[in-house]
Parts: sequence; structure tokens; C-alpha cells
Amino acid sequence: MRRGPIITVLVAAALVAVVAWRGLGTGAPDAPAAPARERMVGEAGRGEVTVALRDAQAPVAIIEARVPGRPIVLIDPGHGGRDPGTVVPGGLKEKDLTLATAQELRERLAEAGRVRVALTRPGDATLSLEQRAAVARAIGAALYVSIHMDSAPNPQATGVTVYSLADVASTEEAARLVRAERERVGQVVTLEDNAVEGLLTDLALRDQMAASAAFARRFLRRAEGRVPLRPTPHQFADFVVLRRAQSPGVLVEAGYISNDADAARLGSKEGRAPLVEALALAIEADLASR
Ligand SMILES: [Zn+2]
Repeated sequence: MRRGPIITVLVAAALVAVVAWRGLGTGAPDAPAAPARERMVGEAGRGEVTVALRDAQAPVAIIEARVPGRPIVLIDPGHGGRDPGTVVPGGLKEKDLTLATAQELRERLAEAGRVRVALTRPGDATLSLEQRAAVARAIGAALYVSIHMDSAPNPQATGVTVYSLADVASTEEAARLVRAERERVGQVVTLEDNAVEGLLTDLALRDQMAASAAFARRFLRRAEGRVPLRPTPHQFADFVVLRRAQSPGVLVEAGYISNDADAARLGSKEGRAPLVEALALAIEADLASR
């Protein structure tokens, strides 16, 4: 058991958050790229280091594993701040559910101590897709997991979908999500068109796509029997944020908050626990194989 250290770590993370997110949710657009203040690493508390990013971005707290030098998984709660994501009648907001899921996943991984773990946003903050991907690159994330909640006009639509990176969307629904992501890029953020640092050589990109698909399959093996899955739960799409993270990664749609059963499952910690466990097991297995 690591009760003491974990509490220390979480308190430290909260303090970092308070300092870090000041000024981020205020609507200021991405500042011009500030020169190299990236990757200053220093002790912020027991079991945790803080990686300072560019001036426009928040520092990110990385919770250490039991054994030093383990790979880092970056968990990205979708939406946040001025971007609530899907909001369903009755009040559930996607941005709150993605954050709760990500925090529970971080807690589960930190307690086991097999991997290093970080969140792109520890609280309710507005983050551009480019900022999320930049965090993955700056901390050298070995794996990037973006968490979202689905919605559909058909209230019967239900279950978990995992998207891995590909050049072409596998279905019309996948294509629709990609379009929605790009619309958000236009509305909420200024995507720096010249941000070529987020692009890889073709060969490296093929490797990134293959590793992304391998993680999606690994996750689905753990998810089967634990959580309800879509009929074809592994989909492919060209998400900006997955491409620019420069690390293997997936986007998990944890269920449909437009569906009563899924909304009830995703609306409580107990209901989310099987999904959190499936993700944690897949992440640990994936990073152990590196
Ligand atoms: Zn979303």
C-alpha cells in the first residue's frame, strides 16, 4: 500500500494545478511560441516531478512509478474550460466526466506504480489540441490516451469505441468525429498552421499508427466482458491530436451520454470503475512490452 505517498502526491498535484492553470482559462489565445524554456525538470514533491512547458502552457505534473525510468502515459481528459463538449439535458457535461475518468485512471495507475502517469489538465481548463499534443511531445510520452464521451441522435446508441490513428476514417461516424474535432480547432483554439514539429516522417508515422492500433486491440481484449462495447468497437480516424502527439495513442469514446444506461454507468465512480480498470491493465501491459 502506498497511501501516504499517494496523498502527498495528489496534494502536490493540486498545488501545482492552482499555480499552473492561472491564466489558462481566461480566453487568451495561444501566445507566439516562446523560446526554449521547455523541459525544465525539478522536484515538486515526493514521487512527482513537474515539467515546465512554454510560457503559454501549464506545467505538467508527472507521478513517478515505483521503479525509476518507467515510460510515461499521458491521459488527456477531452474538452474543458470554455469547451464543455457534449451537454445532455439533465446536466451531464462531457468535460466533467472525462476529467473524473482521467483522475480515477491516474489514481489507479499511481497506486500500482508500474508506469509514470501525467494528465494534460488536472482541472477544468481550456486547452487547445496543439497544446495537448505539445505536452505529449515535451514530456516524451510513450503512450497518449484521450478520453471522450459520445452522443448520438438515436438514444439507443450505446457502448465503448476506441479510435486509433489512420489516414482515412473507417466509417462515416468516424469521419463525423474528425470533422467535429476540426471544427473545435476553429472555434476554441488557434491551431498553429506552421506547427510542423507535430508532424513525423512517413515511416515514423506508419510506426505510430501500427502501435496505436496495437494498443486499441490490447485495450479491447481487457474491456470485453467488463464494459459494453459497440458492435465494431475498433475504429480508425485521422484525429489532429493523435497525429501531432508523436506517440502511439488512442481516443476512447467511453459510451453515449445520450443513452440512459451509458449515462448512468458513466455518471458515477463505481460505474466508471470497470472501464478505468480495463484502461489501466491495457496501459500497464503495453508499456511493460516496450
Ligand atoms: Zn468529445
